[in-house]
Amino acid sequence: MSKDPVCGMTVDERKSKLKSEHDGKEFYFCSPGCKSAFDRDPHRYGHS
Ligand SMILES: [Zn+2]
Repeated sequence: MSKDPVCGMTVDERKSKLKSEHDGKEFYFCSPGCKSAFDRDPHRYGHS
C-alpha cells in the first residue's frame, strides 16, 4: 500500500491507475482531483 500525498489516504498501488513520478519516486492517488493537485505543484506534496 502507498499513501496519497495530497489527502493522506491509503492507496493500493496495484489497483490505482492514478500515478505520478517526482524526483524518481512514484506517487499514487485516490482520485483524479488529488493527482491533478499533485501535478500542478509536486514540490508541495512530494517532499516531507
Ligand atoms: Zn487523495
